[in-house]
Amino acid sequence: MCLAGRSFIMYDFVIIGSGPSGGNLAYNLSRQGAKCLMIEAGKFYRKHTFPRNEADASAQLYWGGGIEFDAEARMAFLRARVVGGTSIVNQCLLDRFDDLVWNDWQARTGVDFFTAEKMAPYYEKVEKHLSLHTFSAAERNRNAELFTAACDQLQYHWHYLRKGQSDCAHDRGNDCIACLSGCHRDSKQSSLVAYIQKAEKAGLDIVAEAMAEKIDVNKERARIFVNRNGSTEEYYSRHLILAGGSFGTTQLLLRSGFGEKLPALGKYFSAHPQYMSFGIFDEPVNSHKGYFQTVASKDAAFRQKGFKLENVFAPPISLAMLFNATGKEHQEIMRNYTRMSCIEVAIRDDNTGVIRVTRKGKLSVSKPLTDADKQKRDAGLEAVRNILVASGAIKIIQSPYYFGLHLMGGCAIGTDAQKSVVNPEFKVHGYPNLYIADSSIYPAAPGINPSLTIMALSEKLSEQLIKH
Ligand SMILES: Cc1cc2nc3c(=O)[nH]c(=O)nc-3n(C[C@H](O)[C@H](O)[C@H](O)COP(=O)(O)OP(=O)(O)OC[C@H]3O[C@@H](n4cnc5c(N)ncnc54)[C@H](O)[C@@H]3O)c2cc1C
Repeated sequence: MCLAGRSFIMYDFVIIGSGPSGGNLAYNLSRQGAKCLMIEAGKFYRKHTFPRNEADASAQLYWGGGIEFDAEARMAFLRARVVGGTSIVNQCLLDRFDDLVWNDWQARTGVDFFTAEKMAPYYEKVEKHLSLHTFSAAERNRNAELFTAACDQLQYHWHYLRKGQSDCAHDRGNDCIACLSGCHRDSKQSSLVAYIQKAEKAGLDIVAEAMAEKIDVNKERARIFVNRNGSTEEYYSRHLILAGGSFGTTQLLLRSGFGEKLPALGKYFSAHPQYMSFGIFDEPVNSHKGYFQTVASKDAAFRQKGFKLENVFAPPISLAMLFNATGKEHQEIMRNYTRMSCIEVAIRDDNTGVIRVTRKGKLSVSKPLTDADKQKRDAGLEAVRNILVASGAIKIIQSPYYFGLHLMGGCAIGTDAQKSVVNPEFKVHGYPNLYIADSSIYPAAPGINPSLTIMALSEKLSEQLIKH
């Protein structure tokens, strides 16, 4: 049910944010009969109502009208503002973490369930929901074929990606690049498809286009102040779950004055900075056709050096922004749209970013690259150049811009209240009924797609709350 007005109900749980974390928790708790309310700043679209063109999708589905920048305007961030969160615009590529991440996270945080074995039951529960599909040779487009042939030649290891999707109708002419603007088929396993639409049937209330601006939490209840169409509404719950993502959750806590009590609030931000390079060919590549993202590097040497390569592409408006040219020169580059291949380097960056709010409560993110980050980037870009040369590109263009699509940290989990915000029971230190299990609790960058683990951690919190 979508609420239209002010509510005086005392909810068992209010969940702020509706991405992979919020969706998972809303579904699990509503299904057990708990009275739950989801509050989401963005609009509520269904498969038939998602924007139909790229410009509208950027403006209507993303924070900042498409792109936000760090305080120095060097790095661009992408995050969605819509019911379903960033899973509405993501590629839904879903990987478990490896031992390298769990060992690192355990050493940093002292959290004892950070092992592949202890997290396995939660991954399994989540995976059962997500209609997972591992791509095969026949599903590669020409961009992927060029990438894999060159990797084989250079002896770089690669693998087929695994995506949450039920029926993308690729064999009937559908091009999946459209799902970056919301899936029109309910095939992609976004939080909306996998969880929220099912939770609605179990009684979940949803307030969309509602910005939680401040929270006030004591041992008995939480009070949430929400801005809707310029007026303030209040909601109440026994337990409050923050699921606004790295930026949203951290910003809300900072705006609500938690910074004074939580010294680690806003720290340890990482983002997997991504760099895109293009090969121009003298034949059609049509990287935008079919499944546009099916393969990636899986090379132990790359993992050790701290980067991975993905075979990607972008729709024309997004792609046009990536080139450092104007006028005729830019036009010449864009003429090659159908003859371009594209490879992206994503690095496992240091968690030295900081999320702050200004006096007016606006977000201000600092994300300088460390020397180690730059080394990882350069090693990755060298591997990309080798691949593009080996695959026969007649020209190589490297975009000077870089992006953060995986926003992580700000409310890191851990046992030490000086170095973390959330304890191993997902409770904010000192607040027994305030919980977080979204991307903000990541203590460091995993170098692996984050969504599946966000859902697995939320599944663990759901189990704990249901037992309680
Ligand atoms: C283009 C793109 C492609 C990606 N591809 C992949 C991929 O293939 N695989 C993968 O694992 N990850 C991918 N990601 C990253 C992944 O989608 C995110 O890491 C994940 O969605 C984060 O989940 P979350 O629940 O923490 O937050 P989000 O999904 O960001 O959800 C947070 C929600 O909370 C809302 N919110 C925030 N603050 C407030 C507030 N104060 N009041 C009300 N609502 C609020 C936001 O509007 C948002 O809808 C991609 C990201 C992008 C941008």
